[in-house]
Amino acid sequence: MDVNTIACDLCLRQKQETNHWLVEVTRPGFEGIIFQPAEATEHPRNPDFIYKDLCGQECAHKRLGQWLDELNSVFNAPDESVTA
Ligand SMILES: [Zn+2]
Repeated sequence: MDVNTIACDLCLRQKQETNHWLVEVTRPGFEGIIFQPAEATEHPRNPDFIYKDLCGQECAHKRLGQWLDELNSVFNAPDESVTA
């Protein structure tokens, strides 16, 4: 992958140097979220996983907040098996 084409998935900032960029890793059907140093995920990416490039700690915090909000909405969703 060309480094010059990498942009933060959240704030769209272009990647300039490898300074503390993070990669968010999630997997459909897997309840969890992982943040890795970008240098640790330069290798060919697993097509079963979803990767998001993040420019640093600030955007990682925002993404974690979004993810927790999504988790909350799942937990608080009405239980369809309950009959009135
Ligand atoms: Zn960012």
